Amino acid sequence: MTTNLLEFDRSGLLDWFAARGEKPFRARQLMHWVHQRGERDFAAMSDLAKPLRAWLQRDAEVATLPVQTCRRSHDGTVKWLFDVGGGNAVESVFIPEASRNTLCVSSQAGCAIGCAFCSTGAQGFSRNLSTAEIVAQLWQAEFTMRAELGLAAGERAISNVVMMGMGEPLQNYSALVPALRLMLDDDAYGLSRRRVTVSTSGMVRMMDRLALDCPVALAVSLHAPNDALRDQLVPLNRKHPLDELLAACERYLRHAPRDFITFEYCMLDGVNDAREHAAELVALLRGRFPCKFNLIPFNPFPGSALRRSPAARVAEFAAVLVDAGFVTTVRKTRGDDIDAACGQLAGDVQDRLTRRAGATIPIRPHTAQPGGMR
Ligand code: SAH
Ligand code: SF4
Repeated sequence: MTTNLLEFDRSGLLDWFAARGEKPFRARQLMHWVHQRGERDFAAMSDLAKPLRAWLQRDAEVATLPVQTCRRSHDGTVKWLFDVGGGNAVESVFIPEASRNTLCVSSQAGCAIGCAFCSTGAQGFSRNLSTAEIVAQLWQAEFTMRAELGLAAGERAISNVVMMGMGEPLQNYSALVPALRLMLDDDAYGLSRRRVTVSTSGMVRMMDRLALDCPVALAVSLHAPNDALRDQLVPLNRKHPLDELLAACERYLRHAPRDFITFEYCMLDGVNDAREHAAELVALLRGRFPCKFNLIPFNPFPGSALRRSPAARVAEFAAVLVDAGFVTTVRKTRGDDIDAACGQLAGDVQDRLTRRAGATIPIRPHTAQPGGMR
């Protein structure tokens, strides 16, 4: 069987090499070729011994993902739809900014959490991606963009990775961690821990494990200031309510490369965007631990009855948080002409999850919400 080298982090490759009697420094050389130079032809790896090249050619490959579509926005955003087989496809988005270029990476085909406002969640869950499928998204985006941007040898196209594509990364923990380790490895992509962000809807036990196994920057999808509302928006909250989630955030900070947690908050018109919700958030979090807010105006997708909060309401909401001393940003919508924004990543998913009836409750805007906020 041919082994895909994108499946291995350093320790995986070292073990695989050791089992074949190869020296550790050869593994490092191979990592440079594959992850730093984007080379997949073993014959071209000139500093590897000939016998090594020969058996690599026989037993190994750098298998990337077929590109189903690649769309480019007028603002420089690029969205790839990668075919992962079995009728499933996942998306990755390259987002260029003045001071950084970020790649938004998918971790699963679909998602089992089923948040009320998310296009991926609406499709259901098919399967976890492998480490190789997660790394392939970065490999393909990095080397495509390097060529497109005309970068000099050794210059990197992607400076930041956010695990904010399709899926709940912490529900695919065993494939995620080796992928993160490769992103951080100086012999591979060499990104700093502060520039790799895992976003979670609140899998508290896995947050504890990540803190020990591979602490990177953490974003937590909050979306509501109380359990009654969060139970409806993020069904996982029924299992791990806010108190448990916030305690896990506090524990994570003891290991995190950044000294704050980022809370993402999707602004839904008439659902969670009132001044009172902002005040309740302040009461919930003030003095607890350092955190920042990233307000994401809801990105509509076909079939959703939810609406984006008006800009003035977002600004008012942000002002309450800022007045209380929280650093707050409002996410700019990028790639809106190619549906590349947060929560719009649709891919193509064969739903293999049998949902219990009523597992997701549709949220109707402008109705009274439990929690007494409106
Ligand atoms: N599953 C992880 C990461 C992927 S989603 C998580 O939920 O954190 C990345 C971010 O996009 C999350 O904060 C998510 O809540 C947000 N999001 C999902 N759908 C959205 C939508 N339609 N509009 C705006 N943000 C959305
Ligand atoms: Fe899954 Fe995140 Fe979408 Fe929720 S917001 S359904 S956790 S991808």
